Formats: sequence, C-alpha cells, structure tokens
Amino acid sequence: MPAVTVKDITILPRVLSNPSARARKVKSITTAPQGHEGEGFPVRRAFAGVDLADLDPFIHLDQMGEVEYAPGEPKGTPWHPHRGFETVTYIIDGIFDHYDNHGGGGTISNGDTQWMTAGSGILHIETPPEHLVVSGGLFHGFQLWVNLPAAKKWSPPAYQHLVASDVALLSSADGGALLRVIAGEIDGFKGPGSTQTPITLVHATLQPGAELRLPWNKSYNALAYVLNGNGSVGDEKHTVTTGQLITYRDGDLIVISANKTQDSKSPELDVLILGGQPIKEPVAWMGPFVMNTKSEVLKAFDDFQKGVLGVVPPNWDKSKRPLQRDGIGYKLGADLTGVHGTPEELQES
Ligand code: MN
Repeated sequence: MPAVTVKDITILPRVLSNPSARARKVKSITTAPQGHEGEGFPVRRAFAGVDLADLDPFIHLDQMGEVEYAPGEPKGTPWHPHRGFETVTYIIDGIFDHYDNHGGGGTISNGDTQWMTAGSGILHIETPPEHLVVSGGLFHGFQLWVNLPAAKKWSPPAYQHLVASDVALLSSADGGALLRVIAGEIDGFKGPGSTQTPITLVHATLQPGAELRLPWNKSYNALAYVLNGNGSVGDEKHTVTTGQLITYRDGDLIVISANKTQDSKSPELDVLILGGQPIKEPVAWMGPFVMNTKSEVLKAFDDFQKGVLGVVPPNWDKSKRPLQRDGIGYKLGADLTGVHGTPEELQES
C-alpha cells in the first residue's frame, strides 16, 4: 500500500476528459523479467525487450521490491559512475540513502523522489540506511532513467530532492483513482520535478472497478507500467497484471481500468504512467553510460578508469556498512555493467 494516500479523494480536483477525445490504442504489452540488484535486492526490469525508439526519452526502468526485508538483509549497490542522463528514484514505501562523490545525496522515503542529473559524470552509491538493515522492513520504489539531449549531456551534476507533500494530488473523473503528479503537468496541475526536456510522470492508484481516462499531451509518447494489481488497458480492454509494461500509440487519452476483484495482498491497481517529447537523437548505451555515439561511451569508460568522473570520497566510512559483505557497498567499479542490470554490450538506436 503506497505511503502517500488521502482520507477523502472527493475533495481533490478531478481530471475530466473531453468526450470527443481519442483514446490511444495499445501498441505492445511486455512482461518485466525479475532480477537482483547488488547483493540480493529484488527488481523487475520494466523496459526489457522494448525498442529504445518506443521508450524515447526514457532509457531504463527498475521496479525495486516490493519486498519485506528480514533484519540484516537489505543490500544496495556498490559505488559506480553515471554519465549522459538523469536517474529518478521514487520511494513508494520504505527508505533509501544515496551518497555521491561531490558530497551530495540524502535520504528519501515514503513518497519522496530524488532526481539526479548525472550530466558530465558522477560517482554514487545507493543503499538502504543502516537502521533499516538492522530492523528489516517494507521496501518498494522505482528508478527511471531519463535521457538527456546531446546539448545537455555535459551539464554539471545536479540534484532535486522532491518531497512527498509537494506532489500534486488529483482524482479521476469517477473519483476512483488517485493521481500523484511527480513531474510535468496534468490538466494544468504541475508536479514538483523540474525536467530537462518535456515529460510527465504520474503514480496512479485505482480502486477496484475504477476507470482512468487521462488526458495526455499528443506530442508525447505514452507508457504505463503495472506496479501491483490486475486491470485492463485501452478501450480495447487488454488485460494486464503486475510487472507488465504497456506502450500506447498516438491519441489524446490514456485509458486504464482496475478489475472489480483484486488479489488480497494488493487490493488496488498501482500504475506508473509516463511519457515525454521524444529526443530523436541516436542512443549509444552500455553499462552506466548513455551517450549518442559508441566512441563517447568508450570515452566514458576510459574517463572513469582515469578518475575523470571522480573518486570515492577518501573520508567514506566503510564502518557505516558493517552488515554489507566485504567489497559490497564501497568497492569501486568491480562490475560496471552489473549495476542496475544494464547492458554488457553496446545498445544503439
Ligand atoms: Mn546508479
């Protein structure tokens, strides 16, 4: 159950759709393979098997959890670099820490978002905090990679810390779906995230039987990912379930419905809805780097080896992670393509 809810959804602004608006038809439905991040961190790789051209301006999406950790169990990533894009980490339930080589970072929890512009290059580490490692507990969130156009790939690294209370809350016309606008705009209501190219990012929770008819910018692509629950998509009513990604064709509206009956362990339908203006540039992606050409990707690996992207802070306290296995949590660059389950071979579009 997401941490951000409302007691009375009827007091929220309702998103109405024009009756003559054209529902987007479903182009594809794919099922995310499950894997592990770091040492035992369960993830679903939501975009696996989908053409980069259909995802543009997005690159990668991991659903992290949902998992109930036992004490001593939570694990994060080792120190690793990024260049050429942004990571957007949203915590639905639980808590996550991040640190970077510029002394930045912080803690995000229960509906907060960390928006990190890697730009020209950064080193960071993403871990559950020590007290969660000690206590165990619920953890659920996602990390989305948003591409940067060539002109912005060399921007200085930057952070936005978006707090749960700043997210714009709206209701579907039928009052059955709660919409949390994290970035971009729905019906004139803006989310707190500042974006480098035009995108919209919404976390929706649909009650059983609810139908969402969401007006969507015609010039954006449209994707929906089912975090939890059972429903159908499009006016064609294709059935979807947990871990499935939907890509839509052109149109004015995204249509998602929740089945009247849901599983007892996830009584609502939770969906991430996202889209943006396609960047329409060549993508060259390998491991933690997303550039325009193969030579830029190879240069990023070379720059990382030379320390151009920075080094692990000399004052990094290894003792803060006593429950991490030796080497995990502070060893730099042991397996760059293993972090975030990113490709070991160059992906190009
Ligand atoms: Mn990372």
